[in-house]
Amino acid sequence: MTTEPKPIRIAIVLNGQEFICHAVTLPFSLEGYPPVDLVLYGRQPEAPAPGLTVNPLPDLHPEGFDLILDGQFMTAGLPDFSPEQVGNLVTGPAARYLKTLVCQLQELRQEQEINSGITMSAADALITINADHVIVGYNRGAEQMFGYTRAEALGQDLKLIIPPPYKEVHVDYLRRYLATREARVLGRQRRLTARRRDGQEFPLSISFSVAEIQGNLYFTAIMRDITEYKAMEDRVLQSERLAAVGNTVAHIAHEIKNPLLIIGGFARQLLKAPEFDDQARRKLSIIAEEVSHLEEMVAEMRDFVRRPPTQKRQGQITAVVEEALELFQDTFREHHIKVRQVEETPLPPVSFDPKQVHQVLINLFKNALEAMPEGGEITITSRVKGANAEISVSDTGVGLAPEVAGNIFQPYFTTKTKGTGLGLAICQNIMAEHGGCLFADSPPGRGATFTIQLPLKETSPAAGASPPEENHG
Ligand code: ADP
Repeated sequence: MTTEPKPIRIAIVLNGQEFICHAVTLPFSLEGYPPVDLVLYGRQPEAPAPGLTVNPLPDLHPEGFDLILDGQFMTAGLPDFSPEQVGNLVTGPAARYLKTLVCQLQELRQEQEINSGITMSAADALITINADHVIVGYNRGAEQMFGYTRAEALGQDLKLIIPPPYKEVHVDYLRRYLATREARVLGRQRRLTARRRDGQEFPLSISFSVAEIQGNLYFTAIMRDITEYKAMEDRVLQSERLAAVGNTVAHIAHEIKNPLLIIGGFARQLLKAPEFDDQARRKLSIIAEEVSHLEEMVAEMRDFVRRPPTQKRQGQITAVVEEALELFQDTFREHHIKVRQVEETPLPPVSFDPKQVHQVLINLFKNALEAMPEGGEITITSRVKGANAEISVSDTGVGLAPEVAGNIFQPYFTTKTKGTGLGLAICQNIMAEHGGCLFADSPPGRGATFTIQLPLKETSPAAGASPPEENHG
């Protein structure tokens, strides 16, 4: 009587490796031998991470298997054994299978080590979640990107790093995938906002792959921090927008310059004529005033879009400070504003365009004046800081509310009824063209400080030089 060869069931208990924590059944059929079911087990972790599937131990019951190898295997790990050692441990027909299996497992292990090396050390964050959105895989890139260690992240819900409402969007995608198995989400780059441990939110690009292991679905997301890319993208967008706005502004400025000149001129002429009564004269002087305000605005707008090239030469920046101050002397006095000058360190001569830096200072003084309608104090401090000459203009005015501080260098941003919102944008461009910068600081309740920096040594203009990080801008 011939009987079908009965499969030999071998359970090998291995320690440690995560891949074998998910119960895997590998049927091998070797020519001339009955098939073998190999059941790999991870040792039950002392504190199993929630979400990890560990094969239930009852399966290990000796009666279910022809051979259970543990003990040494358990402590040393199978791939540490050579096929010869396996031969010494096990005799009989199982030895042949096992030798082959060990070879295959060693290859598997090697492959897995290579893969996990790539995965773990990838600069991108690789995060695997199960169908319940529990994090079951987390590489070093993810540790760096999110600030949570692997131990902290494993077993946590995905919302740890993807805050609402983005998590809901993400969950929705996965739900749709689970329902339809349509791989619309898979392999595609999408953008999402994630959150670091310190609460900071940042943009990332994300793509998914899915794997089904023993009937369980695992989604692996490859995530890349695109903060810098996004900032660059925004800058490009901004400059494209500005170029378009710039052309329109230049055109309008050109068109209205002459009519304004005529209106203003006639108003001033009529003011001198004797036949008008007081009421008419008051109206005429308002026309003249408003027109000159408009002329100023037009000049500022033209300046913003068509500024003459910077002409630098060596000179004392403090001399330019004095000149600008002189222009404001009377106005400051009238507005009860005290001026204090502090020389923390003497400034050596530096290379700059005196006209343009003069314009920057005028703008800072004018803003300080407007920030102190009730009077106050302006402090002008000069110092050498690192590789730069620095001039700070501090006032005791209204200061910068956080929602204002983030926008003050944006062209056309103004909180004033008659402001153009171009002053600081022009100043920042001028400073950038000098290879320096302009930035603001506003400690709560203590007015505002605007600081210009000029490199002590001549540098090529830093295209789009931006202010230091800790400052607004
Ligand atoms: P404008 O003066 O035409 O508004 P600016 O670009 O010079 O344009 O300034 C933009 C905005 O920055 C101002 O409207 C104001 O809200 C803010 N700001 C500038 N300087 C100061 C300052 N010294 N104190 C408080 N706020 C300021």
